[in-house]
Amino acid sequence: MRVVELFDQVRERWGERVAHRLARGESVREGFRGELNRYFDLMRQAIISGDPAWLNDVLDQWTAARTQSEREQREASLAPILGHILLSLNHVAREILSDEDALDLVSVVLPLHTHALQYASVQEADIYVRHISTELEKARTTLERLDKSKSDFISVAAHELRTPLTLIEGYASMLSDMYVRDSQPLPQAELMFQGIGNGIHRLREIIDDMIDVSLIDNDMLKLNFQPMWLNQLLNIAEQELKNVIAERGLTLENEDFPGCNEMTFADPERLYQAIWNILTNAVKYTPDHGKITISGRKLSGFIEVTIADNGIGIDPEDQTRIFEKFSRLGNVALHSSGKTKFKGGGPGLGLPITKGIIEAHGGAIWVESDGYDENACRGSIFHILLPIRKESPDGRLNKLFEPINGAAL
Ligand code: ADP
Repeated sequence: MRVVELFDQVRERWGERVAHRLARGESVREGFRGELNRYFDLMRQAIISGDPAWLNDVLDQWTAARTQSEREQREASLAPILGHILLSLNHVAREILSDEDALDLVSVVLPLHTHALQYASVQEADIYVRHISTELEKARTTLERLDKSKSDFISVAAHELRTPLTLIEGYASMLSDMYVRDSQPLPQAELMFQGIGNGIHRLREIIDDMIDVSLIDNDMLKLNFQPMWLNQLLNIAEQELKNVIAERGLTLENEDFPGCNEMTFADPERLYQAIWNILTNAVKYTPDHGKITISGRKLSGFIEVTIADNGIGIDPEDQTRIFEKFSRLGNVALHSSGKTKFKGGGPGLGLPITKGIIEAHGGAIWVESDGYDENACRGSIFHILLPIRKESPDGRLNKLFEPINGAAL
């Protein structure tokens, strides 16, 4: 076969040229020549058979031989090496062969070489993807471990804090009793006791939140299903917020929406906690004189409650993040313990707990907002979707609430 003869004529000088350009140092060059010879042997077979797959074997070994750091940085891809090999053939063929022979040889080698380039890049991409997947898996395992340690820490810290807090609470109350009985009480003492009381109350709230978060994290939140009516919870929350609403000059509209007076089985204490979190957030993130509206609708098998405010709003990219624990947006250093002051943030546990409670009921929660802007105050709407249950999932109390003569109570 004429092209094989032409190939044999250029092979020696071609190899030398490539080795000279690509391998520095005598010993490196020696090893490289060995590899190149294998490539040329297989190229020869590919020319004879017309099947470029002969080259795959050596290309597999070359891609697999790349070092870990080369892979990490996607360095030293085979493409430049194969490019040099082809370029050198072009030069050497023109030096040794006639123009016509050189063209014949290059036109046979070119498609084989193109196959080599494509094959090598697919192999390299495959190895790179596998490398990235392994790295991602490692990162995921590390993150899971970190999340578990964080969750364990919250749980341990919360339980450890409870004991000294109970002691402080007990001694503070004894001191306060003594103060009441004291014939010459210090004039500032009452204020001080009030401060201690507020501090203890806030600490207890934070510790309870930490315990709730770890219960939710570990799927251990227990619900006490009972018949309840949503409008009752909403009315209680409205009453509780009355003073704050007045202090801040806010308006709270509690609408009588379809489905709000329907009996459903749920855990009223936990649901109240969830609704309270959303409402106090609406208060915190709405400037003075703003408006909060509680509304909703009845859907097939569900009640949807919406709590809308015309406060500072939430950017679209944060609308999922706020339901993750410790996701308070903005500057962490600005944490304040104010529960109802404008922007008086907390530790960022309220929404994750709320989500945990709603999801434990088989419901869903999400937020809609046109984005964060403290001047434009485009507001936020929190949606809570709750399944209507005509019986308790744990079977308790069902008998008591069975329909009488076909009519539900
Ligand atoms: P926090 O204790 O900080 O209030 P939450 O989990 O209740 O924690 O809320 C997480 C974050 O979501 C808040 O820090 C706030 O940035 C944002 N957020 C929650 N509710 C609203 C709202 N109604 N308007 C604007 N931002 C809100």
